[in-house]
Amino acid sequence: MARYTGSVCKLCRREKQKLFLKGSKCLTDKCPLEKKNYPPGQHGTSRKSKVSEYGIQLREKQKIKRIYGVLETQFRNLFEKASRQKGITGTNMLQLLERRLDNVVYRLGFAPSRKAARQLVSHRHILINGHIVDIPSYVLTAGDVIKVKDKSKQLDIIHNSLKRVKDNLYPWLTVDKATLSGTFVNIPEREDIQLNVNEQFVVELYSK
Ligand code: SF4
Repeated sequence: MARYTGSVCKLCRREKQKLFLKGSKCLTDKCPLEKKNYPPGQHGTSRKSKVSEYGIQLREKQKIKRIYGVLETQFRNLFEKASRQKGITGTNMLQLLERRLDNVVYRLGFAPSRKAARQLVSHRHILINGHIVDIPSYVLTAGDVIKVKDKSKQLDIIHNSLKRVKDNLYPWLTVDKATLSGTFVNIPEREDIQLNVNEQFVVELYSK
C-alpha cells in the first residue's frame, strides 16, 4: 500500500499546527514547530498571499488526513460512508476516524503515535474480543475489548508509551494498564473528540 515516507514534521509545519505525529518528541522543545512555525521550503517565510476559500478547505482536509495518517482514496471512501449515514456528515466522518483500530490503540496509550499503533496492529500484537485483528483501519463498535496479546506484553514501546498517558483520559474509552487492555465503550460525541479542526470545510470541499 502507498504511504507517505517524507519528514512528518514538515507536515505539521505546512499546517502551522502540531499534528502530534512523532510521539513523545511532540511534547518536548525538540519539536521543530517550537522554532520554525512557518511552512517548509525556500518561500516558507515569505509566502503571504491571500488564501482562497478552496485553499482553506483543502488545507483542513489535508490536516485531518495527516492527523489520522489516512491517504486520499481511503479518506474519500470514508467520507462517502459518512455521508450515507444519518446525522451530520462531518461529525460522522470524525467518528469513523476515531473508531479506527490504530487510532484507538493510540488513544488507549499502547503506542506513542498513530503510526506506531498501526505497526502494532499490522504486526499482530493486538486482539479484539479475543481474536487477532491486523487491519489498522478496522472500525470498532461499542463494547469491543482491545487487548495486547500475551506474548507481546513485554514490548518496551507499549510500556514507555503508557507512562505518558493519564488514566481513562477519554470518556468513550476505558483502559486497564495492568492487563494492557481497554474497552471501546461508545462512539464519541463531537465535543468529546479533542481535535482542533473544522470538519465542515471538508464537507464543503467534497460537495463542490
Ligand atoms: Fe509535529 Fe511532532 Fe514533529 Fe512537532 S515533533 S512537528 S508536533 S510531528
